[in-house]
Amino acid sequence: NLSNRLSGVVKTLRGHARLTEANIQDALREVRMALLEADVALPVVKSFINDIKARALGKDVIGSLTPGQALIGVVYEELVKLMGEHNDALNLAAVPPAIILMAGLQGSGKTTTTGKLAKLLKEKQRKKVLLVSCDVYRPAAIDQLKTLAQQLEVEWYPSDVSQKPEAIALAALDYAKRHFHDVLIVDTAGRLAIDEQMMAEIKSLHASLNPIETLFVVDAMQGQDAVNVAQAFNATLPLTGVVLTKLDGDARGGAALSVRNVTGKPIKFVGVGEKLTGLEPFYPDRMASRILGMGDVLSLIEDAQRTVDHEEAQKLVKKMKTGKGFDLEDFKMQIQQMRKMGGMTSLLDKLPGQVSQLAQGQIDDKLINRIEGIINSMTPQERAKPEIIKASRKRRIAAGAGVSVQEVNKLLNQFEQTQKMMKQFSKGGLTKLMRGMKG
Ligand code: GDP
Ligand code: MG
Repeated sequence: NLSNRLSGVVKTLRGHARLTEANIQDALREVRMALLEADVALPVVKSFINDIKARALGKDVIGSLTPGQALIGVVYEELVKLMGEHNDALNLAAVPPAIILMAGLQGSGKTTTTGKLAKLLKEKQRKKVLLVSCDVYRPAAIDQLKTLAQQLEVEWYPSDVSQKPEAIALAALDYAKRHFHDVLIVDTAGRLAIDEQMMAEIKSLHASLNPIETLFVVDAMQGQDAVNVAQAFNATLPLTGVVLTKLDGDARGGAALSVRNVTGKPIKFVGVGEKLTGLEPFYPDRMASRILGMGDVLSLIEDAQRTVDHEEAQKLVKKMKTGKGFDLEDFKMQIQQMRKMGGMTSLLDKLPGQVSQLAQGQIDDKLINRIEGIINSMTPQERAKPEIIKASRKRRIAAGAGVSVQEVNKLLNQFEQTQKMMKQFSKGGLTKLMRGMKG
């Protein structure tokens, strides 16, 4: 079991002060196994492990944490980074109709995803959508799309197996233009394996349509094979994004890392069911948790996250000791850290059981934004020496941040209190401050 494995890693390394080649060797082997279990492709695992190693070596282990916890933190961060950090939205910035071309093997979920996308665009973005099927090898495939379109009450452009895919697509495009459709989604044929004719066909479809989005649809259950398929499609088409389907099943999500790594293209959506509602934006942090397994592992990550906090806190303590004052710049740094933890909190929020309690009574985003906005409106001088901020400076800062002078005053008062509190630094300092500001 993956969680046991990673907990083992943590225990193994307890008592070391720094990550070294020697003390992370076992741990890295376990992480490697974990990734393979999650179905990340072997070559991807290899290069990932090398990166992790380079990043982890020499890293200090702080406070009560073990090198294992620190390492898991690094693994998690790298996973998120590799998968693109944030969600990439669908790009529809084209002269209408914005064309979306669906590519992928047979059974990957192209037609289903076409329907899901149509629903999303129609209902969430109020787009006028036209669907067309260029899968002329299977009459059932054309009917499948037609049925979906009828169900969704979205228009579809009729086609039949006697026509050439390119001719169908161009006729649909012409129709979409004349009827002022915002979006045209072109569903295509796939084969059970990569095949030259299929590749040539979709390549020429792409050339004549020049779509704004070319989405590669790939089945997450494909595991190791996903890499070869992704490679082939990426070499044939200028892909703009990936849809990873069937994540509602047992798939551990390793394909996300593999496909992203091989194509360099963002995963924009994940398919989470056969129903038309089963399409969600892709979030790298959630996928990283999935790949690592939940439960135990997340609490480890949490600890690792706290390390960052702790590290900064130690820097601040040192600052106080060396006589260099805690200023608004430090204050801002702390706030930015809170923001980072905020991201973490929303991730934890999505998870069951013991984890969700962490999300309770936490950080108010608006407040963080406001405080940061005020500090951003100050000059470096003002941040270093807040006592120089008198009435006219306050007015300027308030105007810059779009808040009232009272709010600037409130921040400065609270900051002063924190400064005092910092002298006998306690970990809850900022939290107390934030609570104070809410009133
Ligand atoms: P295509 O050949 O690429 O067009 O694939 P289809 O859209 O016809 O999908 C093939 C099968 O996968 C169908 O039975 C779909 O219901 C199913 N399917 C597609 N996407 C998902 C998904 O996200 N989750 C699940 N569980 N099934 C899916
Ligand atoms: Mg199909």
